[in-house]
Amino acid sequence: MPINWNRPQPAPQAVWRVVNANFPSTGFGGIYSPRNIRGRSTPSLHAEGRALDIMLKAADPAQKIIADGLFRIFTDLAHQIGLEEVIWNKQVWSQRHLGVHPYTGADPHTGHMHIGFTRDGSQKTSFALLELRVAVLRTGVDELRKASGGLA
Ligand SMILES: [Zn+2]
Repeated sequence: MPINWNRPQPAPQAVWRVVNANFPSTGFGGIYSPRNIRGRSTPSLHAEGRALDIMLKAADPAQKIIADGLFRIFTDLAHQIGLEEVIWNKQVWSQRHLGVHPYTGADPHTGHMHIGFTRDGSQKTSFALLELRVAVLRTGVDELRKASGGLA
């Protein structure tokens, strides 16, 4: 069966479930959306349903701790997960330019994290190592919250 690219692909859906199960305070920002990258004439990976937006605010200290931790996990595991690009808080990791670089696009991504999958990666449904790393992050954030009397 040919893949239908006009719908949300399996990997971003599965990754959203992992993130939201561990961090219910995160918001779903969408997967499939037939549109271009903001400020450009190139289609977004959302146009093929192979990107996930997670709503998190860099200006909110509690959310920034979670988002920075997730960004680290996604960039560490990018090749295993099958990612093409990860954008968060004026930083980007991409397959084309390895490593984390300043992001200079029109949207600074301070209100959401963008996780884009390769076409192959977008069809994956099991993410054991990601699940483990996200659960470890949740435990760490919980401990931090307890240690700071609920402030973090
Ligand atoms: Zn996005």
